[in-house]
Amino acid sequence: MTMEFTDRVSRVEPSATLAISALATELEAEGADVVDLSVGEPDFPTPENIVGAGKDAMDAGHTGYTTSAGILELREAIADKLADDGLDHTADEIIVTPGAKQALYEIVQALVEDGDEVALLDPAWVSYEAMVKMAGGDLTRIDLSAHEFQLEPALDDLATAVSDETELLIVNSPSNPTGAVYSDAALEGVRDLAVEHDITVISDEIYKEIAYGVEPTSLGTLEGMADRTITVNGFSKAYSMTGWRLGYFAGPEELIDQAGKLHSHSVSSAVNFVQHAGLEALETEDAVTEMVEAFEQRRDLVADLLDDHGVDVAVPEGAFYIMVPVDDDDQAWCEGAIEDAHVATVPGSAFGTPGYARISYAASEERLEEGIERLAEEGYL
Ligand code: PLP
Repeated sequence: MTMEFTDRVSRVEPSATLAISALATELEAEGADVVDLSVGEPDFPTPENIVGAGKDAMDAGHTGYTTSAGILELREAIADKLADDGLDHTADEIIVTPGAKQALYEIVQALVEDGDEVALLDPAWVSYEAMVKMAGGDLTRIDLSAHEFQLEPALDDLATAVSDETELLIVNSPSNPTGAVYSDAALEGVRDLAVEHDITVISDEIYKEIAYGVEPTSLGTLEGMADRTITVNGFSKAYSMTGWRLGYFAGPEELIDQAGKLHSHSVSSAVNFVQHAGLEALETEDAVTEMVEAFEQRRDLVADLLDDHGVDVAVPEGAFYIMVPVDDDDQAWCEGAIEDAHVATVPGSAFGTPGYARISYAASEERLEEGIERLAEEGYL
């Protein structure tokens, strides 16, 4: 039997980050000591109080289905958190998902039709492109690399790229893979264009809590944006809960109704006891502050070490990634770096921006030093 796969799925590449991690695991199985700087997850354990809340919830029998959109207490607690960020949403305007990735998938599926134009700010997180393609949409890409990955100086390019044909724009600040935090002026520029061309905007704020000396603005707080912004966030990064799979999105009620159908017919709901752990996570502050301080210290360390090797980087203000300029053939650079130096990084081309490699500094200072030293020794820096 020959299976016929849809063009929507067959034109999508597997995740580049996961492919590199698989290669690192393979080399490790052969006995190599791989410094894995490719991973997009905090290297800290989930805070104990959150683990405890998850266990308690299991013991208390919170193991059945929940309301598809998520338990009311959690949606109310998320609404309070969003209110602290300046966003006004009721619990009915929030859907709790198994991870922010699922939230993004549901939104894109609900909004994008065959041939719809979706704008991305490059370099952009790998899954946006795949999600848009799987929905049948077409991509318009705006390259921020000439502007140290900042959006404000690229607003003219954005204005040229978008039009009344643009259905959706995805903004991710702090950004994966650049760590850039967009200025208020940049976000106001986005707002003006979104209003002018009637564009819906997804604000992916998964790294909002991980920022250094700046407070990333939520796009939906800008005047004129409340009814055209869908805010996405989750628990993976801020609370080191990647494997728990817990995220959410908040937006206008009609979108929640439409996306809610997709949600209920696919995942039913996020895991019950995980949602209870999420309630505890939203009360957790000290552990988050400690993690963010550690990331900031590592950011400084990596930027200094790269500088010592004469590599000039745009110093990120958030998330835990840094883009390192490498050869034009970044794919070959990353493959060589893992094979020769046993250092795993992700090629910029996976994010739409060749000529760079993404380093994740979600690793100990010792491993970061070791990785950068090895890259230099093997002639990669
Ligand atoms: N958005 C961005 C920009 C990310 O980097 C990630 C994860 O790497 C996600 C969304 C999805 O996060 P999760 O599904 O773990 O909540």
